[in-house]
Amino acid sequence: MVMTGRIYVPSAVEEGGAVVGMGCFSTQETAMNVLRSFLKKSHQVSLERASIAAWEVDVVGDDAVTVLSEFECRLCPVCHRTTFWIDIERFKATCYGSACAAWIEESSIEANVINCGWPPTQFSEQVESIDDAMRSLRRIAARAEAAGLSALDSEFHIEHERFK
Ligand SMILES: [Zn+2]
Repeated sequence: MVMTGRIYVPSAVEEGGAVVGMGCFSTQETAMNVLRSFLKKSHQVSLERASIAAWEVDVVGDDAVTVLSEFECRLCPVCHRTTFWIDIERFKATCYGSACAAWIEESSIEANVINCGWPPTQFSEQVESIDDAMRSLRRIAARAEAAGLSALDSEFHIEHERFK
C-alpha cells in the first residue's frame, strides 16, 4: 500500500512555550477546521501563536516540514478576549470568539488600504493603517458598550441600525 506521504499538523504554542498538539490530518482543510475550533476557545488558555505545517512522511530533517500559515494571538479590540488571531504572512485578522467575529484585512487590490468590520453590527470601514483599523473597531465597541450592549450579546444584530 502506498501512502499519500503528506500530513497536515495544526498546533498552538502556550505562553511559556509549551506546544499544544491537535493531531495530524490528511488534508489541509481538516487541519484548518480543527485549528479554528481550537482558536475559538483561546480566551480560556494563554496562547501566543498557532500554525499549520505540512510534513512529508519518511523524510529526514528540515526538508520534511513546510509551515503553511502562522497566526499570532492578540486581544480583540471589540470583545476584549484573547481570541483575535492575526495571519502574519498576509495581514488578515479575525476574532474567533463566539458572537464577535471582528476582522481586519489588507486590501488585495489597493496598496495602503485596510478594511475592517464587525459583522454583528454590520459595521465596516476602510482606513489607511492597521492602527487606524484597531482604533476604529475600539470606537464602535465603545459606542456599543455606552449604549448598554455587550459585544458578546447574541441579540446584538437586532440593534445594528443605530450604528450605521
Ligand atoms: Zn472579539
